[in-house]
Amino acid sequence: MNSNATLPSRKIIATHMLIACGPSGVGKSTLLTHLLSQRPTCTLSRSTTTRAPRGNEQNGVEYDFVDIETFRSRIEAGAFAEYADVFGNYYGTPHAMIHDAISEGKDVLFDIDIQGARNLKAQYPGAWCIAIAPPSFEVLEHRLRSRGTDANDVIEKRLAKARFELSQEDLFDFVLINDKLDDACQNICRIYDVMRQRAERVTIL
Ligand code: ADP
Ligand code: 5GP
Repeated sequence: MNSNATLPSRKIIATHMLIACGPSGVGKSTLLTHLLSQRPTCTLSRSTTTRAPRGNEQNGVEYDFVDIETFRSRIEAGAFAEYADVFGNYYGTPHAMIHDAISEGKDVLFDIDIQGARNLKAQYPGAWCIAIAPPSFEVLEHRLRSRGTDANDVIEKRLAKARFELSQEDLFDFVLINDKLDDACQNICRIYDVMRQRAERVTIL
């Protein structure tokens, strides 16, 4: 008898995953937006957060904005592949976001913090993680202030966390220094192309 005949049939789907990690204000969303515009084979995972929308942010576009009770009930329901408390607010990556992207045949990009990157890499060791670093901490402070979206105390917290995040070298497959924007935009596209050639595809059962 063929023992395989008794195995349940399962759909195996595979993709590439690229995690962009780095301090707030360093330019992650600027670079990922550029990559998305240049490479239609990828899509951005949209996180859920309890943080209030900033500026022109809209629910369902930059994030799914929910209240803390909703977020906690989703944690209990096992809805998140990873979640973390970042600067006093919850942020999480829904499993459904990853599955939807993959079922559309796309590679998935993530803009998440260092705790989230570690958790995702533990689940999906084939994921690549790139650190986006500023040319200096003075430049980072300038970018955060000129973005004009955060109060002074929030900026101080973000700067303090930045040094810790960039010291986590064991996690990073690449470090991309975002100095001249044109160069950094070209480099993130190159890294993505290399990943598609070399990285093992993440398999989801
Ligand atoms: P993050 O997503 O990492 O928080 P953003 O992409 O929002 O950062 O960038 C923070 C600010 O820095 C924005 O105002 C953006 O336009 C600006 N910025 C990004 N990259 C550069 C760069 N290479 N040179 C100058 N300004 C930049
Ligand atoms: P911001 O409030 O500036 O949008 O994001 C603050 C930080 O939260 C950034 O470092 C961003 O990468 C991180 N972040 C956004 N979404 C997620 C997520 O789903 N999980 C984790 N762990 N971090 C996230």
